[in-house]
Amino acid sequence: MDAHWLNQSIIVLKGIGEKMLERFAKRSLFTLNDLLFHLPVRYQDKTRVVPISTLRVGDSALVSGELIACKTHTARRAVLSCEINDGSGVISLRFFHFNKQQALALSRALEQGKWLKCFGDIKRGRQSLEITHPEYRIIDQHQPIQLDETLTPVYPAAEGLSQLALRNAIQQVLQHLKQKVQQQIQHQAQLEDGVSEQAALVSDYLPLAIREELQLPSLLDALFYLHAPPPDCPVFELIEGNDPYRQSLVFEELLAHQLTMKRAYQHQMQHYSYPFTFADKAEKLQYSAQFLKQLPFKLTKAQLRVIAEIAADLSQSHPMQRLIQGDVGSGKTVVAAMSALYAIENGFQVALMAPTELLAEQHRNNFQQWLQPMGLDVAWLSGKCKAKQRREALESIADGSAQMIVGTHALFQAEVVFHQLGLVIIDEQHRFGVHQRLSLLQKGKKEKTRKENEQSDKQNEQDYYPHQLIMTATPIPRTLAMTAYADLDCSVIDELPPGRTPVETVVLGEQRRDDILQRVHQACLNGRQAYWVCTLIEESEILQCQAAEKTYEMMHSQFPDLAVGLVHGRMKADEKQAVMHAFKQGEIVLLVATTVIEVGVDVPNASLMIIENAERLGLSQLHQLRGRVGRGSQSSACVLMYGSPLSRNGKSRLMTLRETNDGFEVARKDLALRGPGEVMGTRQTGLAEMKIADIIRDQHLIPEVNMIAQRLINDYPDTVDPIINRWIGQKMEYQNV
Ligand code: ADP
Ligand code: MG
Repeated sequence: MDAHWLNQSIIVLKGIGEKMLERFAKRSLFTLNDLLFHLPVRYQDKTRVVPISTLRVGDSALVSGELIACKTHTARRAVLSCEINDGSGVISLRFFHFNKQQALALSRALEQGKWLKCFGDIKRGRQSLEITHPEYRIIDQHQPIQLDETLTPVYPAAEGLSQLALRNAIQQVLQHLKQKVQQQIQHQAQLEDGVSEQAALVSDYLPLAIREELQLPSLLDALFYLHAPPPDCPVFELIEGNDPYRQSLVFEELLAHQLTMKRAYQHQMQHYSYPFTFADKAEKLQYSAQFLKQLPFKLTKAQLRVIAEIAADLSQSHPMQRLIQGDVGSGKTVVAAMSALYAIENGFQVALMAPTELLAEQHRNNFQQWLQPMGLDVAWLSGKCKAKQRREALESIADGSAQMIVGTHALFQAEVVFHQLGLVIIDEQHRFGVHQRLSLLQKGKKEKTRKENEQSDKQNEQDYYPHQLIMTATPIPRTLAMTAYADLDCSVIDELPPGRTPVETVVLGEQRRDDILQRVHQACLNGRQAYWVCTLIEESEILQCQAAEKTYEMMHSQFPDLAVGLVHGRMKADEKQAVMHAFKQGEIVLLVATTVIEVGVDVPNASLMIIENAERLGLSQLHQLRGRVGRGSQSSACVLMYGSPLSRNGKSRLMTLRETNDGFEVARKDLALRGPGEVMGTRQTGLAEMKIADIIRDQHLIPEVNMIAQRLINDYPDTVDPIINRWIGQKMEYQNV
């Protein structure tokens, strides 16, 4: 059986020459197989003529009738308007042209009294329903109207590739396929061995047993159906993507993604890492215990559970790959500190990377405060370090005198050489690209000595890799996490420290600004601390800082009785730090800030936050910002101030925040509003680029996909590569470090 005939270049098809080949290639369509899996995004129904009187706005429909009027108007553009009547009603057709000649030529063709068949989107016109630029054909009223036999697929739009060219090419592939099926049926009738070989035609990689168990239709049937659905199919289901044929292909695409990530995970697992020991006898192994003892609070059950999960990972001889999801304020930093101390007790360095200068600084402060009393050294690296500071830091990192290294992106620059990196911690991972995370891991890679190699059970592995811990405050629903983070083990801190009172959130229009200002003033005089956040569109950091400066000056002069401070991204690092320190100490009571304070900033005393132009920010971002308050035991409030007019989407975001403080709930809403690519950041672009699956709509399939993926890996390992190649190809290679 020539199962690979589908791997032929599309040049074998009629109508495809070198030029066309190039255009298809731009869309990554090279082989017959690529075409076969280039699936329609929607359908047109030209299998029946719809009476004009039953049309509704938004339909796409085929209508047919007599031309009863035809007029050309020339204003800025030449417009030709016609009306057709099918006995049940009248609809207008409108054609726009850039010059009069074109319009005239068309008007000569479309004479009154002729009959027309036309297809297009039905819109509301001035007097009646109308179609702009319909596809049309003049027909003979006495002949039966020629109709399509199947729904017409509409393929993803592509520059330089018309629907016609795509349909034409794909139809040819389907024709070939049909012939092959016919031949096979004849062939099998002769053989009478009863084994269905049909699947081999399009390489149905899913084992038959699994396909039957899940009651998935055969791949071949699904493909025929989707490219050329029969006229009586449930169009609505098909369009919504809910019919069983489409779902079976969606299943396979999700499976392909799952398999890629699981494979990346297993690939990592094969690397070697130094296992840490947790015996508490030795003197050296006291840092973590000491740390716990001096904390002013007890860890929550969730924190303890996650720390235990981490400890179990760290005792393995392969790298930990763990993600901690925890809502804003759930106490991830302490968990990170415990993990760091385990590594340090075992004689290793730890690198902690944060996406913003401010957050990295805050981590540095925390870790210095915790570690220095134990005689441990914390090095600091950021893009804004002065030359001397930087040189010293690099030295202490290279010679191992710094056990803990905290910084921003600066951590993976070429000059940074670690002495003995055992653990990499990445905070707010969605802010980093996958490449950045991987390059930090590469830095920690170290060649094994010969002696180590002899002692190890993985002798062929030359290198050892650091363990990695990733933290995120954008928790996502479980099913989604199963897909998005299939290459990581996940822990969830699903509990907030006790005594937190939920933040009360109020939504107010900006015409109330003066009123709000007075109330903030009063609250601050009564001893509360507040953030006043100036936001603008994110791209414009300069403008945002200017807005903050202006607001600061205004408040400074208007409230001489308050200590007002200002922090924004364009201030020098030490200035910023001084301001944050003063705020933390209570020396500043009202802090005007830009969104630099969005992630991680921790000042438990602050209990009031006002966010200007809240409608311009995304849900997750607002939730993060709001998470800066409600960290102490006093009750906190957040005012979301919006400028009008407020869009429907903007309103829906603000209402969600007013209604819930739960990060999971917020993430769910955010995903529905913005989609996974936006919410989960650069790392998950693979998910956003799926061909036919929609990670939100198709979520319900994921638990099953996840289970089947594991079964394929265990029981049918040969099917893994082909499935990945069909749907993803080489795109996800970067995952395999
Ligand atoms: P996030 O998960 O958002 O990074 P942080 O680690 O910044 O949260 O912790 C938020 C605040 O809660 C910090 O002030 C921290 O000291 C405090 N905290 C952490 N764990 C506990 C706990 N178990 N009990 C009380 N407070 C805690
Ligand atoms: Mg944090």
